[in-house]
Amino acid sequence: MIGGGQLARMTHQAAIALGQSLRVLAETPSDPAAQVCADVVLGSHHNLDDLRRAAHGSHAVTFDHEGVPTEHLLALQSEGVTVNPPPQALVYAQDKLAMRRRLTQLGAPVPEFVEVTAVADVEAFWAQVDGQVVLKAIRGGYDGRGVWLPRTLDEALTVAAEQLDAGVPLLAERRVALARELSAMVARSPFGQGATWPVVETVQRHGQCAVVIAPAPGLADAAAGRAEALALELSRELGVVGVMAVELFETADGELIVNELAMRPHNSGHWSMDGCVTSQFEQHLRAVLDYPLGDTAARAPVTVMANILGAEVAPEMPLDERLHHLMARMPDAKVHLYGKDERPDRKVGHVNIVGGPIGDPGGASDGSAFADYVAAVRERAERAAHWMATAEWTDGWNEHGME
Ligand code: ADP
Repeated sequence: MIGGGQLARMTHQAAIALGQSLRVLAETPSDPAAQVCADVVLGSHHNLDDLRRAAHGSHAVTFDHEGVPTEHLLALQSEGVTVNPPPQALVYAQDKLAMRRRLTQLGAPVPEFVEVTAVADVEAFWAQVDGQVVLKAIRGGYDGRGVWLPRTLDEALTVAAEQLDAGVPLLAERRVALARELSAMVARSPFGQGATWPVVETVQRHGQCAVVIAPAPGLADAAAGRAEALALELSRELGVVGVMAVELFETADGELIVNELAMRPHNSGHWSMDGCVTSQFEQHLRAVLDYPLGDTAARAPVTVMANILGAEVAPEMPLDERLHHLMARMPDAKVHLYGKDERPDRKVGHVNIVGGPIGDPGGASDGSAFADYVAAVRERAERAAHWMATAEWTDGWNEHGME
């Protein structure tokens, strides 16, 4: 796996159970995956020789991020290395303009967009969409970096000028009036098998994912079916091998619009580690290595994942002591830590709460009992993650039992 982040770390966990071993190309020995894998190649994903050292002799090469230059992957392919997802597919997760164009060709719903090669393009597009403009770096953005939501035309022109001057290729797209964000995850194997997970709701804070609710509460069966069918179709049409997340916007009138594609395990699939028969990490390996795919059924009516996001100021209480207290208070909380130093807003782990069996979820005819149940599971997941990040209980609970 190219990249030694938390996705590689958790993929390694799944590889162990399959009797496989994961080699990682990591930048430093302290990368999350390098800390736990026995087979670590230190180097850069920008360097073809480093990539070769990691890739040669493997059954297949796959990724923890989208940063590897396409020309290097084509070189590896020409040397006989199996690259999954293949670079011909991966480019649609690396290049937002190529993705928008290809999805338009396929008839998939995307926001109106335009390539920005000069500041004047932004001015024209601003008029075209009544100022509802989002600017995006075509490559290299993640967790909201490389995305700008300008409030005025002046601001839009300034951002565009700065970025173009710095050599950053840009696109502009219509700002969607979104009701919420969803993610449809799918896996596809070289054999052509495809499997989707239930569609989830992703809650963003400060431009990055904070909470995932699985399945997305209140999503009509027909809409969920459409989203899963779209994910399957895109994975097939683009030739994806492995796991893909299709990030979606849901508008107020229930329309679904594709925001982004990620061709790797994804934050919106972390709930599957505890909430599904087959986790996204195991499924990614099954797909990349061409095993039959696993059952993607949920184990509970709802599972909520909350990211542990580094606090503004890291608490004095050590992380391990926070873990100790969390375990004492919430024995069902499933914690996954990434071995990363805490920094403001940095993803250092996540907590999954798998909802318990419910006696009679359909008891209230208007569905409010089920909504309360989902809200309670979410509240517990967020409380646990907030505690882990800040050493503060959102409900003022005192872990030493004193007033
Ligand atoms: P990244 O690649 O950094 O994840 P995204 O393209 O997913 O960037 O954008 C980050 C966030 O910005 C999205 O989750 C969404 O909240 C907001 N956003 C992006 N594009 C649009 C859009 N066209 N309309 C409205 N909000 C958007």
